[in-house]
Amino acid sequence: MFESLSEKLEGAWRKLRGQDRITEGNIDEALREVRRALLEADVNFQVAKEFVADVRDDALGAEVVSGVTPDQQFIKIVHDQLVALMGEQNVPLAEPRAKGRPAVVLMAGLQGTGKTTASAKLALYLQKNGQKPLLAAADVYRPAAIDQLQTLGGQIQVPVFTLGKEADPVDIARASLERAIADRHDVLIVDTAGRLSIDDAMMAELERIKAAIDPEEILLVVDAMTGQEAANLTRAFHDRLGITGAILTKLDGDTRGGAALSVRKISGQPIKFVGVGEKVEALQPFYPERMASRILG
Ligand code: GDP
Repeated sequence: MFESLSEKLEGAWRKLRGQDRITEGNIDEALREVRRALLEADVNFQVAKEFVADVRDDALGAEVVSGVTPDQQFIKIVHDQLVALMGEQNVPLAEPRAKGRPAVVLMAGLQGTGKTTASAKLALYLQKNGQKPLLAAADVYRPAAIDQLQTLGGQIQVPVFTLGKEADPVDIARASLERAIADRHDVLIVDTAGRLSIDDAMMAELERIKAAIDPEEILLVVDAMTGQEAANLTRAFHDRLGITGAILTKLDGDTRGGAALSVRKISGQPIKFVGVGEKVEALQPFYPERMASRILG
């Protein structure tokens, strides 16, 4: 499907081979290939540019390692930088802030990104880990969003809190938190409305929900197929809401997942989970190492 970065670097490597170290004179072509590979993997242009500059500094400053050819050393530097940028480790979901309160997870994102599906997937994932989640249906605008969440909740046997589609989303969120506390749920996942594009009314509503329930997590749901746009999207949501992490959906599709790099670099917050299919089981924790290999191909 994709030509791997190592294949693409072949040409550039040939120049590095036979030389005993990476120098200003021989690194540029290899760096150009890295940048091309990142762009092809949907990494945002600016993010790719900064990344390549960092790799350049690292590679030029690298000590000569005996028994390792410069091309091997170079690819390791690229890989390590990618992993470092994506946060090294998987970061688990936040714990409840206080005793007697659930960990509240506010789901945010554009319509169609997989927010409702991701809410149910996350509930199932946490339930399998011995937790007792409650789902809240605060998307009152998209026709059928409440039904969809109820159907999914039924499938995984997780209760869904709703006040119907006439209620105010802020009231729904607040009441769902009261219910979660009363019924001793340890996690509350609030599904919210998205729009087709970034929109002031959507952001204002999310801010009001945030103020009402003071969530432990605000997870931005990003469609991995969004490509370059993932960067702008992240900036817009992070500036208004202060996201604490992201879920990257539709990674089963035809993308290398460079959006992960953009989201992380722009918000500084970790990708916590990835969606890998339409089924409710298709959610996995995010592992930076795996994603680095996928992006590099
Ligand atoms: P919302 O508008 O953000 O709530 O989006 P939905 O949860 O309704 O999802 C929109 C569409 O994307 C649905 O058809 C989902 O089945 C599909 N979807 C969600 N997550 C994934 C995923 O990880 N992989 C694939 N292939 N499809 C997904």
